[in-house]
Amino acid sequence: REHQRKIEPLGQIGLTARSVIAVGSGKGGVGKSTVASCLAYALQKSGAKVGLMDADIYGPSIPHLLGVSGRPEVIEKRIQPKEVDGLKIISMGLIVEPGEAVIWRGPMLHGAVTQFLRDTDWGPLDYLIIDMPPGTGDIALTLSQLLPLTGSVVVCTPQEVALLDAIKAVAMFRKVKIPVLGMVENMSGFVCPDTGKEWDIFGRGGAQKKAQELDVPFLGDIPITISIREQGDAGKTSDVLQNEVTAPRFEKLAHNLV
Ligand code: ADP
Repeated sequence: REHQRKIEPLGQIGLTARSVIAVGSGKGGVGKSTVASCLAYALQKSGAKVGLMDADIYGPSIPHLLGVSGRPEVIEKRIQPKEVDGLKIISMGLIVEPGEAVIWRGPMLHGAVTQFLRDTDWGPLDYLIIDMPPGTGDIALTLSQLLPLTGSVVVCTPQEVALLDAIKAVAMFRKVKIPVLGMVENMSGFVCPDTGKEWDIFGRGGAQKKAQELDVPFLGDIPITISIREQGDAGKTSDVLQNEVTAPRFEKLAHNLV
């Protein structure tokens, strides 16, 4: 099991971690960054040292979701990750001014991700969680060339059109030889706060079925809740792991993953 693996330097980049896990999705807006952050918090809650690297260079949402801002310090050419609630964070959103348009060419994306991994003082980590950009395999390919990843998690929502994109994400990770550790169904069911009745707004169980078809483990589902959205908007995603409805769901995900 993961926690029995040694913390050792990975590849040629000097990152020292027990496990490196990429969280991806076929498309944006399915809750990939939310799941990546909550997974990081859940692993940390279990006692692990966790880093969270936002590799979504075009649309970095980790700083917003975690309520962190300000440029990371650079000491002797080493980037110092921001510490939030005990997690170590790095994101392009901390470097570029909010609202600023950045034009990235492929090689620059490669450079940014390489720097985040190689030039950041992560220290020894149990887990580095990487929030991947949605869709294309560009960054996944770069990562797979830089270090041996433990694997990836694909986040999707239950409706058929979203699942089609998730299938592509699984195929993409497989193509760059990053093992798929499992699929997560997010926004699966909504418990009406007034009546307690559960509504499957986007359907339910689609991801589990697709995971079976693709021969990928199903890690669990996360309901749509007003609290997850509110806490994300308020930069208090750590509270998701304090909430009695949502915390156990993410703890179960983390447990199924490692
Ligand atoms: P992505 O990284 O896939 O683009 P985000 O994690 O940024 O998606 O989430 C998009 C929006 O959906 C955010 O406002 C987030 O708070 C919200 N969200 C994500 N998951 C849930 C959920 N399970 N319940 C309610 N809101 C959610």
